[in-house]
Amino acid sequence: AVKRTPFIAGNWKMNLDHLQSIAFVQKLAWSLADAKHDYADAEVAVFPPFTDLRSVQTLIAADSLPLAYGAQDLSAHDSGAYTGEVSGAFLAALDCAYVIIGHSERRTYHHETDAIVNAKVLAAQRHGLVPVVCVGETAEDLERFGASAVPVAQLRTALEGVDGAKGLVVAYEPVWAIGSGQAATPEQAEKVAAALREVIAEVLGDDVAQATRILYGGSVKAANIASFLREPNVDGALVGGASLDIDEFSSIARFKK
Ligand code: PEP
Repeated sequence: AVKRTPFIAGNWKMNLDHLQSIAFVQKLAWSLADAKHDYADAEVAVFPPFTDLRSVQTLIAADSLPLAYGAQDLSAHDSGAYTGEVSGAFLAALDCAYVIIGHSERRTYHHETDAIVNAKVLAAQRHGLVPVVCVGETAEDLERFGASAVPVAQLRTALEGVDGAKGLVVAYEPVWAIGSGQAATPEQAEKVAAALREVIAEVLGDDVAQATRILYGGSVKAANIASFLREPNVDGALVGGASLDIDEFSSIARFKK
């Protein structure tokens, strides 16, 4: 079996300004360095607001901190008359490795469709950014269609025209579990993650499917992270609320299996 490096991603959402981000990242790096757990090979990434990225880039580069970072969204367009949008080219120029695409809050509040998500995934790849593609069902979807149908359909559209060689990360985030304190069970997460890996295999081939990290997101905490990471198809977590608590996030990143 392919070994996939666990990926622990902190989505700050609209929290922490550029000055706060510097103090936060510095303290997070200290906390990660101090963590004594025996499982320490996860890749850890933070996703600050756009306005923090230059500060975060400078700090991480200056101190060689073992942290990756990326943005929470990008434009589907590369440049031009799109007031308020941010190009993937600008994110690449700030050395972002990743970009979150299709988070449920973007889908809900900014009406991002599966087609828009797909266009943004292609934009990310054009600029050498690895997309973290978010999919997940609402409580109503879950009741009507079961857990896998909606995320599977969302991913299928998101992957149209994607170059598997350029890499991607998929985050399964049941909407009902985000910020609710009510995480999915590890078995639920595994079932959908396995279905998503099958979609990747169908569209991009088995090698890409085996190499792609599939994250679970939705009320992940230090207390439940290990139960998700024990599942064979869950390769990490996208963490919202708990990513703003340095000790909690650092414990998540240094989870013991
Ligand atoms: C998220 O918004 O991606 C998320 C998983 O949030 P939370 O961890 O707060 O549920």
